[in-house]
Amino acid sequence: MHKTTRVMPAHKHIALVAHDHHKPELLRWVTENKEKLQRHFLYATGTTGHMLSKETGLAIRSMISGPMGGDQQIGALISEGKIDMMIFFWDPLNAVPHDPDVKALLRIASVWNIPVATNRATANFIFTSELLEQEVDIEIPDYDAYLAART
Ligand code: PGA
Repeated sequence: MHKTTRVMPAHKHIALVAHDHHKPELLRWVTENKEKLQRHFLYATGTTGHMLSKETGLAIRSMISGPMGGDQQIGALISEGKIDMMIFFWDPLNAVPHDPDVKALLRIASVWNIPVATNRATANFIFTSELLEQEVDIEIPDYDAYLAART
């Protein structure tokens, strides 16, 4: 796959998602990182986003609820280059009805090479990186070259 680059802005577009058993954990992490988070543009799946904005007062653009299509909405934004990183506290111990959507979301985040934190430790590493508040070049698939090779 040919690669090209895109510039991630200093003010990142950050997706926040948590499965039900992990919503309290995400709320705790978001509360601890509220000051940093408010310098960026926040997105979330429906229930997560409404809960976080109610509890923290942060401005969050909420999709519809994850199992109803919200994961796919976030995935679509990632594939359009509109999300720069994702904090996704998915549940490794309980089955969810929308498992295919969860896999799809994690997969598309890998395709488009965005940083993804699936737990608190990774989220902390990302949020203490000096890159968080800098413009950063990231490698992404070269879609024009991909298309040219197939047509
Ligand atoms: P929710 O979706 O924020 O609407 O609960 C999260 C998810 O399961 O992807």
